[in-house]
Amino acid sequence: MTDANAQPLYDTFARADLRFERGEGVWLITENGERYLDFAAGIAVNSLGYSHPHLVETLKAQAEKLWHLSNVYEIPGQTRLGQRLVDNTFADKVFFTNSGAEALECAIKTARRYHYVNGHPERFHIITFEGAFHGRTLATIAAGGQAKYLEGFGPKVEGFDQVPFGDEKALKAAIGPQTAAILIEPIQGEGGVRPVPDEELRRLRKICDENDLLLILDEVQSGVGRTGKFFAYEWSGITPDIMAVAKGIGGGFPLGACLATAEAAKGMTAGVHGTTYGGNPLAMAVGNAVLDVILADGFFEHVQQMALVMKQGLASIIDRFPEVVAEIRGRGLLMGIKSVVPNTTFVQALRDEHLLTVGAGDNVIRLLPPLVVTEEEAREALSKIEAAAERLSVTARQKIA
Ligand SMILES: *Cc1c(COP(=O)(O)O)cnc(C)c1O
Repeated sequence: MTDANAQPLYDTFARADLRFERGEGVWLITENGERYLDFAAGIAVNSLGYSHPHLVETLKAQAEKLWHLSNVYEIPGQTRLGQRLVDNTFADKVFFTNSGAEALECAIKTARRYHYVNGHPERFHIITFEGAFHGRTLATIAAGGQAKYLEGFGPKVEGFDQVPFGDEKALKAAIGPQTAAILIEPIQGEGGVRPVPDEELRRLRKICDENDLLLILDEVQSGVGRTGKFFAYEWSGITPDIMAVAKGIGGGFPLGACLATAEAAKGMTAGVHGTTYGGNPLAMAVGNAVLDVILADGFFEHVQQMALVMKQGLASIIDRFPEVVAEIRGRGLLMGIKSVVPNTTFVQALRDEHLLTVGAGDNVIRLLPPLVVTEEEAREALSKIEAAAERLSVTARQKIA
C-alpha cells in the first residue's frame, strides 16, 4: 500500500496493484503485456468490451465535429437517442445525465414534482429496500440507506423510508400520507446480486397503483441488455413510471438517463431541472452507437445464450467445490457467486488466474462480462474459476483437518 501522504489522490479507493494500458474485446492488457479476462467490465459499464470498432469510429468522427454544446441549443443526437429509448421502452420522456447517481437524482426529483403539481407537496417520501445501492450523492446515500456510506456526512437527506428486502408486510406498513414512490433495483447489484422475483415486481406495481405511488426502477446496473432483455423489468411484464439508467448505455463514456412516462414527468417543466454536460454531442454519439449494436437482431439472444453457458458451468463447479462456493444468483450476465470463503479471498484467487471480477454485499463475487463475450471466452472464464476453486478448496480442507 502506498503512503497516504505520498500520492496526490483521495484515499477513497483501495486500489489493486494492476496497471492496464489497453483493452481488446473482453481482455485487458497490462503495461507488461499480461492479459486478463475482464468479467467486471468497469462494473457493468463496458457493455461492448474494449476498443469496439463501431464505438471507436463514432467517437473519433464526433470528436472532429463537436464535443460539447449547452442545452440551450438543440442537440439532434440527444433527440435521436431519446426517441430510440422511448421507442424501445415504457417511457415517453428522457433526461440525460453523466452518471447513475445523477439519473437517480432526476428520478427522485421527478417523483416529488409529480405529487407537488398534483397539489400534494407533503408527498415526498420514497420507500427503498435494505441492501439497495443508488449512488454516492447526498440524496442517493440516503436512498441506499447503508450506514457505512452515510456515516460522517451530516444529517441524512430527509424523505427515504427503508424496509427489509422482500417483506411485503413491512412495505405496506411503511406507506403513509407522505409517500410518493417506491424505488427498487430489479436485481440488487452492490447488495449481492439479489434478484427481485417477477411476481414480487408485479405485486409492487399493484401496490403502487392502489396507493397512487410512482414505481421507480433503478436499472443503472441491470439495464441495457445485461439480463438478456433491453431492460430487466421486461421479464416481469410490468412497466415502471420512472427509471434510472447509466453504466452500460455509454459503453465506457460517462452517460446516464432518467426515463419517465409523460404523466410521471408532468411536473418537470422548463427551468425546474438542468445539467451542463448531460446529453452533450460526444456522449450522445457514443450512446447511439451502443444502441446500434445492442438493439441489432440477435444481440439479446446472444446474451441469454452466454448466460446459459455460464450458469451450467457454474452449477457444476458448485457441485464439485461446496466448501468454496455456495450458490449462483442473478439473471443473464449479471451473475453472482455466493462464496463460502471470504469473497475478497476468492476475488484475489481469480485475479491470480488472470480473471477480473468484483465483490458485492452478502459475501458475493459478481461476474459482469462485456455482453459481447464469446462462448470460448465464457468457457475460459469457467476454467479459471474452477482452477481458483480447486486451490481454495485444498486450503479449506487443510483448515478443517
Ligand atoms: C453504479 C450504480 C449507481 C450509481 O451510478 P454512478 O454512475 O456511480 O453514479 C446507482 N445505482 C445502481 C444500481 C448502480 O449499480
